[in-house]
Amino acid sequence: MKARTFPAVHGKATLTKINGLEYLAISTATHGVKLYEVFRHPRSVRLRNTASNEAFDVATKGDLPGCTCQDATYRDREGGCKHQRACRAVGLIR
Ligand SMILES: [Zn+2]
Repeated sequence: MKARTFPAVHGKATLTKINGLEYLAISTATHGVKLYEVFRHPRSVRLRNTASNEAFDVATKGDLPGCTCQDATYRDREGGCKHQRACRAVGLIR
C-alpha cells in the first residue's frame, strides 16, 4: 500500500515531429528538460529517454497501470507521474 499522497508535478510538455519521428519534451523545475522519443502503441505510449535510453510505458486507458516508471510505481502522486501528466497535456492519453 502506498503510504501517502505526493503533490502534483508541474512543468511544461511539448510534442513535436522531427524527420518523421515523434518527440515529447518534458520540462520540470526538479528534473530540467528531458527529451523522449514517442512510440504509439494500441494501448500504451512508450517514451524513450533520448539521453539515458531508459523507456517507460504509459497506458492510454485507465484499466492498466498508469506508467512503468518508479514514481508511478511507488508513489501515489496527485495527477500521476510527470510522464502521465505530460502525455495527457499533449493529448497522447486521455
Ligand atoms: Zn512515469
